[in-house]
Amino acid sequence: MIKGKLALVTGSTSGIGLGIAEALAAQGANIVLNGFGDAAEIEKLRAAMAQRHGVTVEYENADLMDTGEVEALLGRLTDRHGAADILVNNAGIQHVAPVERFPAERWDAVIALNLSAAFHTTRCALPAMKARNWGRIINVASAHGLVASAEKAAYVAAKHGIVGLTKTVALETARTGVTCNAICPGWVLTPLVQKQIDERAKAAGTSVEDAKVALLAEKQPSHEFVTPEQLGALAVFLCSPGADQVRGVAWAMDGGWTAQ
Ligand code: NAD
Repeated sequence: MIKGKLALVTGSTSGIGLGIAEALAAQGANIVLNGFGDAAEIEKLRAAMAQRHGVTVEYENADLMDTGEVEALLGRLTDRHGAADILVNNAGIQHVAPVERFPAERWDAVIALNLSAAFHTTRCALPAMKARNWGRIINVASAHGLVASAEKAAYVAAKHGIVGLTKTVALETARTGVTCNAICPGWVLTPLVQKQIDERAKAAGTSVEDAKVALLAEKQPSHEFVTPEQLGALAVFLCSPGADQVRGVAWAMDGGWTAQ
């Protein structure tokens, strides 16, 4: 039962996180949005989601690269609501560069947000989930949690890392009503990917539309983007009773990328 549960979706002011928050809200979950952006735009998003689905939607602007802010956020949610019943670790960033020119500061930032933040939210959220003997932790990894691409050292390391974290947490919670799983999307047309398409178009001297087609053709056999709505539907399934024994998987939704 998702109705009435509290779901914290990190990085949900945009892209995949927003799609997952929307799908959980449509099932009656109360939502805590998190992420950056224009305050007025976020407030519009928040109010519209609450109104559309008749649920409560809160917004927390915690910077998840700051461990103290993560601890304070989970502390507030536990105080206010008893537990964050559903935790979706989605916030992430990318940096593309060959390893010998990869800025050390970008490495640290990608690891901090894409991997360490999920460890910190998980360790802070788990005690209250275990006390209620129900919880869902969904880590948004990537096809890059299963296979690599050149020039994405930090991202690939973080995403492989979060798949490992997922398995460990799944084992530690195996005898409880808490499950932990990872979702591994292929290309999804979000601001994170649009930036890479724009950079590829510039580097190759092609149109943005041609760069988009080339990006898909290179990795994704379906030649179609995965959508935030499809990923939201998978998250809803993972939160349903039908998924009670889905534990520690890294579930690809990637148009065939990792079947190759
Ligand atoms: P996006 O850029 O649209 O959204 C990222 C979200 O994270 C935004 O809400 C942003 O404000 C938030 N964020 C950034 N820094 C933060 C911080 N320090 N603290 C809190 N929030 C922060 O990106 P997206 O494509 O929707 O990516 C979401 C997740 O999905 C990421 O983990 C990404 O690696 C993963 N992913 C994306 C794709 C894709 O093709 N788009 C594919 C596989 C996996």
